[in-house]
Amino acid sequence: MPATCSRCRSAAAEVNLPYAKLRLCARCFKDFYTNRIRRTVEDFKMFRSDDRVGVAVSGGKDSMALLHGLKEAFPAAEFVALHVDLGIRGYSEHCREKVEELVEMLDVELEVFDLQRELGFSIDDFKDTLYRRKVCSACGTIKRHLFEVLAGRAKTRVLATGHNLDDVVSMMLNNFFNRNWSQLVRLKPVLEPLMPNQTFKVKPLIKTPEDEDLLYCLYSEIPFREENCPHAHVGRLRRNRETLEYLSKDNPNFKYQMLRTFLKLIPILEGHVEKPKLRKCEVCGYPSSSQICAFCRRVRIVKEARRTRNKGEPRL
Ligand SMILES: [Zn+2]
Ligand SMILES: [Zn+2]
Repeated sequence: MPATCSRCRSAAAEVNLPYAKLRLCARCFKDFYTNRIRRTVEDFKMFRSDDRVGVAVSGGKDSMALLHGLKEAFPAAEFVALHVDLGIRGYSEHCREKVEELVEMLDVELEVFDLQRELGFSIDDFKDTLYRRKVCSACGTIKRHLFEVLAGRAKTRVLATGHNLDDVVSMMLNNFFNRNWSQLVRLKPVLEPLMPNQTFKVKPLIKTPEDEDLLYCLYSEIPFREENCPHAHVGRLRRNRETLEYLSKDNPNFKYQMLRTFLKLIPILEGHVEKPKLRKCEVCGYPSSSQICAFCRRVRIVKEARRTRNKGEPRL
């Protein structure tokens, strides 16, 4: 006979959560998932239950589950979905459609930044620049900046992102091994703004294992992207994930133990990490450690490459 759910004791258990010693039915799993989001937000004081909160949604399972879960956990809060259309051929259109489908389903406001329309280039154009082998890293810089711009447009004080437990712990381990303390410190659950008028960045899924985002999407019939980004390549990050899985094999609590350790370590490290001296970027006015910020430098490079290409001159 199949096991019954450890919570309601009536329905058949479908989801096994060894770290919590629970076997849950679909309904109890969804409650468990959204309760954890609510508790995480409250424990780390990420926002108030009646706040207006920007949610960065890419169309991927994590951010889509996040938006849906937040709406379930905080019915009185006002959420705005923030989406960057990266203009990646055969991919971005698909992502945007999924995001539009979800905001319609949830009746949530949507604010989109269309890279091609508003800035005249797409992430594909980085293929013609010195970032050709680092398109993902350039894309990351562009997205981080534009989510801040979108939060400003949507007038939200808080920006929630879909980083899950596996993301955060593997990035923490990576920064730890590379002794990159300043980046490690930035992985905390609530990141204060670098300058006034900017957002608090919060991670409501920091305690949610990645595979549960997928399960939650499936059980709640949440649309999410099924295509993979053509620029993404499995490399270093995948290897870190494999190490993490290996270490978790005999200890289902390993990721939580790592997270707890790092969360204790961060305040201690913070006292020793030198804060970067910030000024305003001369082009966009956003905080930057140099005269021109990383975003504006990349925009300049990609636009220059486009101009050269359009003139029919040899590629950079
Ligand atoms: Zn149940
Ligand atoms: Zn700038």
